[in-house]
Amino acid sequence: MTLPTLSLQGRTALITGAATGIGRATALLFAQAGARVVVNHLRQDAEAASLVQAIQALGGKATAISADVSDAADVQRLVDGALAVVGTIDVLVNNAGIIQEKAFLDTTEADWDRLLGTDLKSVFLVCRAVLPGMVARRGGAIVNIASDLGILGRERYAPYCAAKAGVIGLTKSLAREFAPQQIRVNAIAPGPVATAMVSLEHMSAEWVEKELAIPQHRLGEPEEIAASALFLASDLARFYTGQVLGPNGGSVMP
Ligand code: NAD
Repeated sequence: MTLPTLSLQGRTALITGAATGIGRATALLFAQAGARVVVNHLRQDAEAASLVQAIQALGGKATAISADVSDAADVQRLVDGALAVVGTIDVLVNNAGIIQEKAFLDTTEADWDRLLGTDLKSVFLVCRAVLPGMVARRGGAIVNIASDLGILGRERYAPYCAAKAGVIGLTKSLAREFAPQQIRVNAIAPGPVATAMVSLEHMSAEWVEKELAIPQHRLGEPEEIAASALFLASDLARFYTGQVLGPNGGSVMP
């Protein structure tokens, strides 16, 4: 048996919502592992350009493409654009996401559609556009970023929790459907992570108390989630599919 490694040398990776936070850390780590990275962003030209520069400074290769992953036509343009540059997509990380805090009874249909569109429908759309290429090559790895809140639920975050639980169900279904084609599909359900989405300075005291009520009593760093993404994308995880990894400081213990 050949020993698998963490290297992504010679592979290409598309990472959605990669201009900031966990996506950015994942793009940098994948590039350091040898992958050629396509950085999707939502009209964040300056941040995406600085990430591409940072990757190039490491000796890596990266391309940035702006696209709204909740929009089917934009997703097709993103995937066609990525394929035109890198040829194939070996690894897909569905990372783009938004969050909203609101009492359930104040939640409008527009709130629901916006959140589910960005956090769940996007995963369907991007997978649907990328999978045919993986099927044709009989190989690939998909990593979907869910959340511990998709497992635990949280008051005032119903659409977010529903979307992230949906990401986990979608991950398991695709893992089963595409295992015969040697495509692995896994999810990561991070605990609270220090990014723009989550800020101890800007959230309510009640929110901070809840978020930090986990055994490690701290926020995770984006790099700590990127490490799980690298593992799942690499051959080290070749016997993993349909799994949910939990870099979460102990918030969920299955
Ligand atoms: P972030 O806000 O830094 O990153 C999210 C990125 O997604 C942003 O760059 C944003 O512009 C992009 N995005 C949003 N809508 C988009 C769209 N329609 N099309 C393309 N890009 C879009 O926050 P983050 O914490 O790095 O979030 C990354 C992922 O991690 C999200 O899916 C989030 O739900 C998940 N997550 C975060 C935490 C946390 O505590 N930060 C915990 C669990 C899960």
